Amino acid sequence: MDNKALEKLHLASLSQSKELSESKLCGCYYCIVSMSADKVSDWKNSAAKTGPVCPNCGTNSIIGDELGQSITDELLSAMNTRYFS
Ligand SMILES: [Zn+2]
Repeated sequence: MDNKALEKLHLASLSQSKELSESKLCGCYYCIVSMSADKVSDWKNSAAKTGPVCPNCGTNSIIGDELGQSITDELLSAMNTRYFS
């Protein structure tokens, strides 16, 4: 996975993107957990105008499969390393 692809996912996770809200499988790259999209209730964090927040950790670090990448532990780990370590 190149850095450009990671950056695209990162930016999408911080916004209310259409692709994100249409995803079926999502993952949090802060706690490295994948979950079905219906677990993520806060799809539009409209007050803050940020992306949805993780039900586990409350961080807006959710990415979804509609963004064009399969949500795998490898992907979430790569994102975690790049943005949270
Ligand atoms: Zn989380």
